Amino acid sequence: MIIVMQEKATKKDIDDVVSRVEGFGYQPMVLEGALRKVVAAMGDGRDKARLQALESLHHVESVMPILKPYKLCSREIKCENTVVDVKGVKIGGNKLVVIAGPCSVEGEEQLAMTGSAVKKSGASILRGGAYKPRTSPYSFQGMEEDGLKILRTVSDKTGMPIVTEVMNPREVDLVYKYTDVIQIGARNVQNFSLLKEVGKLDKPILLKRGLSTTIEEWLMSAEYILSEGNQNVILCERGIRTFEKATRNTLDLSAVPVVKELTHLPIIVDPSHGVGYWQWVGSMSKAAVAAGADGLMIEVHWKPEEAFSDGPQSLKPKKFDILMGELKAIANAVGKEI
Ligand code: PEP
Ligand code: MN
Repeated sequence: MIIVMQEKATKKDIDDVVSRVEGFGYQPMVLEGALRKVVAAMGDGRDKARLQALESLHHVESVMPILKPYKLCSREIKCENTVVDVKGVKIGGNKLVVIAGPCSVEGEEQLAMTGSAVKKSGASILRGGAYKPRTSPYSFQGMEEDGLKILRTVSDKTGMPIVTEVMNPREVDLVYKYTDVIQIGARNVQNFSLLKEVGKLDKPILLKRGLSTTIEEWLMSAEYILSEGNQNVILCERGIRTFEKATRNTLDLSAVPVVKELTHLPIIVDPSHGVGYWQWVGSMSKAAVAAGADGLMIEVHWKPEEAFSDGPQSLKPKKFDILMGELKAIANAVGKEI
């Protein structure tokens, strides 16, 4: 249930509602909208009538059920867009945010060269995996903590915030120490203990869609993070598995407007994993921006032919630079800046 406070409600009024909600055995969460504050009462639905009765308090405007299975990330609870702030880079606002970098961190020179090139082209966040979820245990698994150290060093040198993946609840504290945004990869989207762990952190989470998760299941995963207290979640569409084999995955761009309607959380698109071949990354990047995405995550490698992972889908810095130029007109056409 959500308890919508009167516009004039004071802090004392809100505290009063919060303690009543707790008293009924629900977990309260105060959400501040532009005009009104609401108190979300999270629980199993028992004593719903007592929550409903709070409507008679003079500082409460209304008490309403939340119909969607996900609550905190639903537009029902917060109609204005959430803007996630990553060290001053705002995701979910008017500016299209581009995250770029190699699939894996392979060394300091590789990351530094790529980082400074993508920054020059207009990317504002640097990506790179230090822990890699590989289909084969014999494939490169990532540089682990050495990779995290390189990410931090290059971030400090370039001034670009970084995003990197955590795969395991045991490594959350370590990854947290080095990164600015924590990525939960497609294969871990329903690793609920990992989601709960990152939900306790005070750094933004980039939550990728799973290979076969529905939009509703994906939003339920976001809900796991929000329900632990972390409201800074960025969703990332990266393609789903279908019968089509010409592309690595099928990039579900219809997820962008659907997600925009269902949730206040920002959504970005990763066309690199979506299509799996660099030749098609540009077209799908443009389509994603036209569909209303808040940003893009694009794999860029200075020498894709030598990449330890995902070389075939990585753009060379020059091609990335050209694409960034082309994206301008599309971003402007949908009311965004780049
Ligand atoms: C990645 O971003 O490098 C990655 C492994 O992505 P996904 O989890 O979407 O496959
Ligand atoms: Mn990759």
